[in-house]
Amino acid sequence: MKKLTGIPASSGIVLGKAFLYLEDDFPEFSRYAIGPDQIESEWLRFQDAIEEAVREVKALNDRAVREISKEQAAIFEAHLMMLEDPDFKDQIRARLSKDQNNIEWVVRDISSELVQKLGASGDPYLRERAADIYDVSHRILNKLLSITKFSLADLAEDVILVVHDLLPSEALVMNKERVKGMVMDMGSRTSHTAILARAFEIPAVLGLSSATWEINQGDILIINGDTGQVLINPDEKDLNQYEQAIYQYHKTFDGLLALGDLPAETTDGHRVCLKANIEIPEEAEQVRRFGAEGIGLYRSEFLFLTPGYAEEEEQFRAYSQVVKAMEGLPVTIRTVDVGGDKLLPEFQAADEKNPLLGWRAIRFCLSRPELFKTQLRAILRSSVYGTVRIMFPMISGIEELEQARSLLEEAQGECRRRGQTYAPDIEVGTMIEIPSAALTADILAEKSDFFSIGTNDLIQYTLAVDRGNEKVNYLAQPTHPAVLRLLKNTIDAAHKKGIKAAMCGELAGDTAATALLLGLGLDEFSMTASSIPQVKRIIRGVGLENCRGLTEKALNCCSYSQVTALVEEWMDKTFSAN
Ligand code: PEP
Ligand code: MG
Repeated sequence: MKKLTGIPASSGIVLGKAFLYLEDDFPEFSRYAIGPDQIESEWLRFQDAIEEAVREVKALNDRAVREISKEQAAIFEAHLMMLEDPDFKDQIRARLSKDQNNIEWVVRDISSELVQKLGASGDPYLRERAADIYDVSHRILNKLLSITKFSLADLAEDVILVVHDLLPSEALVMNKERVKGMVMDMGSRTSHTAILARAFEIPAVLGLSSATWEINQGDILIINGDTGQVLINPDEKDLNQYEQAIYQYHKTFDGLLALGDLPAETTDGHRVCLKANIEIPEEAEQVRRFGAEGIGLYRSEFLFLTPGYAEEEEQFRAYSQVVKAMEGLPVTIRTVDVGGDKLLPEFQAADEKNPLLGWRAIRFCLSRPELFKTQLRAILRSSVYGTVRIMFPMISGIEELEQARSLLEEAQGECRRRGQTYAPDIEVGTMIEIPSAALTADILAEKSDFFSIGTNDLIQYTLAVDRGNEKVNYLAQPTHPAVLRLLKNTIDAAHKKGIKAAMCGELAGDTAATALLLGLGLDEFSMTASSIPQVKRIIRGVGLENCRGLTEKALNCCSYSQVTALVEEWMDKTFSAN
């Protein structure tokens, strides 16, 4: 039996069979010269590969139309057009005859040239085409080399997924019924794949560095998403312990659920609001059972991560589904935050050197006003079914907020002209997740109806720690004095202007931070729904005045280790006295 320890990223204990899903890099092959007499046979191989690829894409297209939507299937139509494009074929044929290299080499040569040329273009439409060429040439090469690509959507038996890294878009399409647990070399608690694992209630351990080396296909694993332990081929004793741990886990969980609808109120009567973060509309139906008082963050970009952009009607349906499910409780829809680790195909082609500092979130939306306004209209229209709030991600300064607000006004005008109704009093909030926003919170407050602090990014950008990189994860300390000062500045600025300060980063669901956040004056905590009962238990066990005293001391500490020790000692004292 071998044991690995990683980052506990999604709660739960599970036993199952390992399924190694290894990376799908651009296939490796060599270049070799061919004689003039081989040109025709290489050309025939190319044509066969194209035919097979066309069949495959047609099948994918049919499935997407059936199971997702016609809009989402549009990407496959674009791929089909490329596969059948006579210009592309002519270029291949000409280069094959001229250079006389194997056909794989010729396909890659020409595709790389096209991808590079289009990817560097300033025109977003052309950049999208670059991504299509990348995908299509990949598919042709796989055919030429007889490589079969397995899709996680096709998993047919229960497994524990073992991967080096997994894009959020892949996590989104995998067969969630079959993935009973997840183990990953990369990632941290705040990486988006971890966030999705929690949303799907799949136990996960991430940041293991070498899991894909240590674990073999078919190994039996026990993973504990609360301690970060992974046992490989456990013995009899471990299996017995596992049974007991599972029993205990469910008992504790059921006990917490019983806190249900009790208010999130401190012992001295201070009431705060606990809300849920969701990634897909279906989650909205689940969050009420954990006592969520609304949705504090709906990460709408997950609608965009499966192939093709979501059109207005499809978005409208998704937002309305969430708003209706919440029956009047507030739903905060964040406008699309793609880029960073949430890549659309066109970003892959854009090949940014620093995607986390690059073209993402509000920057992307402001450069694509039509796409942005389409989303805004869909959100506005859904507001007639309940209480909707809109918030903008990654605001770095007042100009971006003003531009976003003026596009929102344009979208409202468009709705009116089209006779589409929307609630007149929709609140518009700003996410505080860049240090520059936290430092200018007083200015941003003037144009915001509320703040929501995104600590995942705020910590990443304040401490210069890539949130998906397990090697520097130890530095991502929420109690770092720099982070605490930014939080204080933000919350104080909100209160001075008379608006509410919410938090929707993972820190809001971290019970070790609850007392500190209460002491800082946070009004609203939004988190993975299943964390709500635990946070509520802490809130109901502490007094606001005591929390303020703790926070004052924490703000005077010099290091995160001092703050952590201070809070741990305080929590021990408070909860052992209860
Ligand atoms: C955050 O950055 O804390 C946040 C809530 O947004 P996301 O995790 O989606 O980047
Ligand atoms: Mg963020």
